[in-house]
Amino acid sequence: PGEEVAAQAASLFKDSGSPTIFDKIIAKVIPSKIVYEDDKVLAFRDLNPQAPTHILIIPKHRDGLTQLSKAEERHKEILGELLYASTVVAKKEKLDDGYRIVINDGPQGCQSVYHLHIHLVGGRQMKWPPG
Ligand code: IMP
Repeated sequence: PGEEVAAQAASLFKDSGSPTIFDKIIAKVIPSKIVYEDDKVLAFRDLNPQAPTHILIIPKHRDGLTQLSKAEERHKEILGELLYASTVVAKKEKLDDGYRIVINDGPQGCQSVYHLHIHLVGGRQMKWPPG
């Protein structure tokens, strides 16, 4: 446990971003519709769904990952966990005909919450190119 606390403190130290609403969702201080959870990843329904299924998949410890473009070598594992969890959630949601994964990065990418998240959207026909 001592090691865990030290690791968490170290990761907080590296995390220069401001807190976001997702911290409260992770802490379960504000309610969310959780669809999947493990020790590293949380998935919950988007408050403003853009499709019949719209789920956000996030790391429980942001560890500096305010956005994808801040990824460093140490994040490779969690990036894989998030993408894999997205496939588990898609299966759970029975998105058998396909779905879309989106990561908005920065102002031009239309990112609004600075805690890395994967959007999983599905349940309707998607269009290309995206807006
Ligand atoms: P972004 O624009 O890619 O950063 O995505 C942020 C997403 O978080 C948006 O789709 C919002 O609808 C969603 N969102 C913001 N606040 C909440 C919340 O409290 N619960 C669930 N989803 C939220």
